[in-house]
Formats: sequence, C-alpha cells, structure tokens
Amino acid sequence: MKTFDEEYLAAVVNGEVYTETNKKYENLRMVKNTVFDPHPLAIVKCLNEADVVQTIRYCREQELAFTVKCTGHSAAGFSAGDEEIVIDISSLDQVEVDGSTNLVTVGGGANWFKVGEALVPYDLAITSGDMGGVGVGGNAQGSGMGFFIRKYGVTTGRIRKVRVVDATGKILVASETEHSDLFWAIRGGAGNFGVVTEFVFEAHPGGTVLAGNLFYQYDPQLIQQLTDYILHAPDELNGTLSFTTAPFTSQMPEQYKGQLVIALMVCIKGSPAAGNQMIKELKKYSGFLFDEVDFVPYIKLFPPIDPSGNTLMLNFYTNELPDELISELNQELVTTGDPQLVTQVKVLGGYFGRVSNEAMAYSQRENNYLVIMRKAFGSAEEALLANEDWKDKWEQLRKYANGIDINFLGIGQLNELEMMYKPANLKKLKELKKQYDPANCFIGVLSIQ
Ligand SMILES: Cc1cc2nc3c(=O)[nH]c(=O)nc-3n(C[C@H](O)[C@H](O)[C@H](O)COP(=O)(O)OP(=O)(O)OC[C@H]3O[C@@H](n4cnc5c(N)ncnc54)[C@H](O)[C@@H]3O)c2cc1C
Repeated sequence: MKTFDEEYLAAVVNGEVYTETNKKYENLRMVKNTVFDPHPLAIVKCLNEADVVQTIRYCREQELAFTVKCTGHSAAGFSAGDEEIVIDISSLDQVEVDGSTNLVTVGGGANWFKVGEALVPYDLAITSGDMGGVGVGGNAQGSGMGFFIRKYGVTTGRIRKVRVVDATGKILVASETEHSDLFWAIRGGAGNFGVVTEFVFEAHPGGTVLAGNLFYQYDPQLIQQLTDYILHAPDELNGTLSFTTAPFTSQMPEQYKGQLVIALMVCIKGSPAAGNQMIKELKKYSGFLFDEVDFVPYIKLFPPIDPSGNTLMLNFYTNELPDELISELNQELVTTGDPQLVTQVKVLGGYFGRVSNEAMAYSQRENNYLVIMRKAFGSAEEALLANEDWKDKWEQLRKYANGIDINFLGIGQLNELEMMYKPANLKKLKELKKQYDPANCFIGVLSIQ
C-alpha cells in the first residue's frame, strides 16, 4: 500500500471525501447490520460515474483496497469496508421510465422504493423485495426474491443492460449482444466484476395487486398444506410463509396476540375473480384466523423503511419440507416464542423454475422453497455471542439444503460458493473473474476467485 492523499482524491472527484476528522463520517461509515462496526480509511460519496472511475483509478495507482456500497443492506456486511476506501454510490439514484418499451434505466445506487414510485404512473413494476429501502445495486446482482417471484422470476432476470466501471476504471456496456459473458456474470455474480453505475430493467405489469397476510394458528402440517397449494397454483399466486409470534401487525385482534402464528403473505397479479377464488380456498384451511388481504397498489407492499439492527441470518434452498425439517427449523420459536426470531419459507416454482440455470450466473432454479431465518438482537455483543450457536444451527440444517441464496447470506455461510452456484456456473464465474478482475480488486463482496 502506498499513501492516501485525501486532498488529491477530493480534487479529482465531484463528490466529497470523508475521513474520521469529518463530522459526517460517523454516520456514513455505518452499514444497516450494526453487528459490524467499520472504520473505513475514507468514504468517497460519488456524484456520478466519473467519480467512480476516478476513485478506482486512484485506488489502483496507490494500491489501496476499496469496497462498493449502495445502501449498505448486506446482512453479511459486504459493503462495510473496514480500513478501506468505501466507494459510496447511493447518489447515483436516477430513474427513467420509457413507457413505450417498458425499459427502465436505474442508477446503480438507487433504492427500490424510488424505482417503484417512478413506475406507479405507468402501472408497471419490477419484482425486487419486501423493503423499499433495499438497494438496487446489491439486490439485483444477487437474486432478488420479490412479491412476483413465481410470475416474473428473480430481479436479476429482469436486467437487460448494464454500464459497468471495471477494475481498471474502464467503462463497459454489457447486454446479450455486447460483452455478453460479462452480462451473464453480472446477473448473479454479486458485485465481483465491477461497479454497475446503471441498470436497464424490463418492467412488467404492476399497478393494483390482490395482496396481504392471511393468519393461521401455528401447525406444522398446515405449513406443508399451504406451501403445497401455492407450489401447484397458477404463477399468478406468490406466497411467503412467516412463522412468528403475534402481534405481527397492528391490526392483529387482541385474542391472538402472543400466540405462535403462520402469516402467509400473498401477492396475486391476474384476474380479480381468479385471485378472489384462491383467497377463498386458502381461507378454508383449518386453523385460519383472519386476513388483511385486499386490492392495493403494489407500491404499498414495500415501504420506504430502512431498518437497521443487530441481525443474524441464515438461508437455504430446499425441495421438500419434511416434518423433521419443520420441527428443527421452529424448535427455538416453539419453545421460547421469541418475537425477535422469524423464519420464512418463500414458495418458488412457476416461471421462476422454468428458466434454465445456464441462462445467467444465478442458478437455483430447480428448488421449490427458500428458507430464511433471522433474529434481531439487543446489542452487537449479544449477536456476536450467539453467532457460534447460529453456525451450529446451520450445520444441523445443512442436510436439507440444495443451495444458498446470496442475498440472504448469514455470517456463517460466507465460504460456501459451491452451495451458491451450480458447478458449471461457478467454473465459468471463476474464469470470468480472472478475465475481468485478475487482481481481485472487488473484495467487499462474496469473493469468487
Ligand atoms: C431489511 C432487509 C430486507 C430484505 N429483503 C429482501 C427481499 O425481499 N428480497 C431479496 O432478494 N433480498 C432482500 N434483502 C437482501 C438484500 O437484497 C441484499 O442484502 C442486497 O445485497 C442489498 O443490496 P444493497 O445494494 O442495498 O446493499 P450493500 O450492502 O450496499 O451492497 C451489497 C453488496 O453488493 C455490492 N454492490 C452494491 N451495489 C453495487 C453496484 N452498483 N455495483 C457493484 N456492486 C454493488 C456491494 O459491494 C456489496 O458487496 C433484504 C435485506 C434487508 C436488510
């Protein structure tokens, strides 16, 4: 490492450079998962693509390590950038909609709420996730498990073109017809190939959806019945089950508060009559308590909140939900009723499962379910103490897993590339990494080498 010259870097970028001596540094250095306490060497708040180019060039010349940060939502702390230069791209957040082609140009630092808002007048949407504050940059390059997963697939699959600043500071455009190998790698490569300064997505119908939670008494057999119903339903029905202790929402009737419940969040885009029929059928299952399902604007489903906290997480893909798995998954919840612990099962299949694993780097298409466990702790110390237990938990659950999702990685799952990609995809990704980032400069990511 050579020397860091703050004044020089500040002079060659349009944005600001923040170091420990600046008041704003304290706020800017943090990521959303406060288990991490990073102290970057400096934070470069980029205003445009040229700033990204200049910062990368400077870091390469001075042999300084750098990390790209969009909104800092990575639960695994990828964008934390301790003792590094953090390239903060959150101001690259422009959104332009072409209503005639449904193509949407989005800055690499935008969040999904901003994109969703811009799409409202066009009755369009881009499936992304359940929180508006989550960044497009990381989310769309991992997977993107949204409310339309069975109808329109992962967010990654909606990308049509990208502008990328590579590890030398060069700007590349990648699509099916230009740098198609890079385009393949970006769609699942989790930020290993460059800084995406601009995405072009193809939007799909949005507008009004039939959506909301249906609540049931907790019953392991019902979990199997509901997931099976959704898996075999038309693609229009998307559903995620959460197992948690009520109150889950402010509308929860008093008599159910404190009980263990199954909250089935549905989002249906299709004929209103067919949607109503599906809800009617879902309400017939024994254990149904009440529901909040209604016709709502899609934008209402992912509020612009930006949660932070001391979070531990783990996830895995699986094809079956046998009794033993459900019992192991929910053992702690059933015995403690801890409201901070939430386990989710996202039901896949539909269009998601009909896309080939070879189409892009993301390759978990044959799986029926994505299981996610997360817990918020009172302090970072408490979370770090519990981390060993979570590693054990993952070791116990591993036997059920066919794969792991990059977006919901837990701290104990970082070195499991073989679980994140199919063998042929991983081989190709490693070859492309050597071609596009031979010096492994993009290190604030899941490391593909
Ligand atoms: C509260 C919460 C809810 C969530 N809900 C969902 C959900 O419903 N569905 C889902 O799929 N995921 C969900 N996630 C996971 C989320 O998608 C991932 O954590 C994702 O990586 C966050 O992206 P980010 O850009 O906001 O985060 P960051 O921490 O800023 O970045 C994550 C990674 O991506 C890299 N990166 C970011 N932007 C770029 C870019 N433009 N170019 C190159 N590299 C870049 C960073 O270097 C880092 O390695 C959720 C996470 C949280 C905390």
